[in-house]
Amino acid sequence: MDTDRTVNTFIDFYRDRGHRQLTGDTLIPPPGDPVLFTTSGMHPLTPYLEGRPHPGGTRLVNLQRCLRTTDLDEVGDGTHLTVFEMLGSWSLGDYDGPQSLRWGYELLRDGFGIHPDRLHTTVFGGDGQVGPDTESLRTWGDLGVPVELTTEDNWWSNGPTGPCGPDSEIFVWTGEGPPPQQSTPTTDPRWVEVWNHVTMRYHRHPDGSLVPLDRPSVDTGMGLERLVTLLQGKRSVYECDVFEPWMRTVPDLWDDLDEPSLRLVCDHLRSGIVVVGDGVLPSNSGRGYVLRRLLRRVLTVLWRDDPSRTLSDLPDELLEHTRQHFRQQGQQGGVGSVRSVRSVLLDEEQRFTGLLERGRTVLSRQGFSGRVGTGPLTGDEYDYLHGTHGLPRELVDTLLREGS
Ligand code: ATP
Ligand code: MG
Ligand code: MG
Ligand code: MG
Repeated sequence: MDTDRTVNTFIDFYRDRGHRQLTGDTLIPPPGDPVLFTTSGMHPLTPYLEGRPHPGGTRLVNLQRCLRTTDLDEVGDGTHLTVFEMLGSWSLGDYDGPQSLRWGYELLRDGFGIHPDRLHTTVFGGDGQVGPDTESLRTWGDLGVPVELTTEDNWWSNGPTGPCGPDSEIFVWTGEGPPPQQSTPTTDPRWVEVWNHVTMRYHRHPDGSLVPLDRPSVDTGMGLERLVTLLQGKRSVYECDVFEPWMRTVPDLWDDLDEPSLRLVCDHLRSGIVVVGDGVLPSNSGRGYVLRRLLRRVLTVLWRDDPSRTLSDLPDELLEHTRQHFRQQGQQGGVGSVRSVRSVLLDEEQRFTGLLERGRTVLSRQGFSGRVGTGPLTGDEYDYLHGTHGLPRELVDTLLREGS
């Protein structure tokens, strides 16, 4: 099943059950939101999960692009991307958690053809403050799907205060043959999490207390690239159709990249293109700094083996494919055109080239070049190079490594 059909199957399933489809937002949360980027499908819906009436009604479905800076260390494995898409469904004070789980099960089995023997779930087992999620436990029992109880992994909140509650995660078996009897999601990484169903039952106040919400809501989120990867029988997101143009062109463009570098370059470049398409420019703070770090990491990896590599060689096809995939063509302001995205990438490349040249000169003049291979500099030395010469620590480390 390709990506488009996967999306349509999900949306149609929920529309048939009375859900209104929302247009996904950009990666930029509304003004006043303390978070830099949209991190989940529910993120833009927070006020409605706390009881504000939504103009679309009480049953909603959508596809939302997300960016998690917290996942950067995991990027490069088979399942975590920097920018990814989340399929989501919501009951705003409408149907309950068990209904959401039953529909989820039905869609995975009948809509996506996943054999129930390949499913495992986790459920909140309770902590000092809240008892176990018996509703979900009973529902999975009725459906005959194995459950593992956890404490830390199955409590959902979007921050220290606000709506929160127990969640139930659904995992799909990705190993060869049937899953062994004793194998569970927390003990065996061949179980891959695809979908999370959260029952928002509480509001957490700044003093830590939990107050039950008058009308609990249900929020679900499923990673599109992960689901598609499973449905296509692939081992990593980089092998599914979403990355086909990348995997076809990048290894020829910049040959001899090892697998981790290839993955990083594809993930970060694709993420950078989307972020620029949503109107962000590289800068030294906030969103712009996240973007700058993504692009500079790509360049650092590319130049490690061959300093003549340049983003000018990036085929238009990849920029266009990314824009289309994230539905950025018709976005207002024209910021997302292939030409303008390309020029932002190239400007940043030039700026980084200039900074590196200046950095090399400074390091050699100030006598730091001899420090290659002797470990990191002291805090004072980094402060001096940053404060007086504008060289951030990451860049200094890159230059010192380069000289080794
Ligand atoms: P994991 O435990 O694998 O890190 P999570 O529990 O942090 O996932 P959720 O917050 O529950 O993820 O998000 C809902 C779904 O979004 C996940 O079940 C997964 O399918 C998908 N997802 C989460 N993070 C990523 C990511 N970095 N890249 C791709 N898909 C993701
Ligand atoms: Mg995670
Ligand atoms: Mg998880
Ligand atoms: Mg989860």
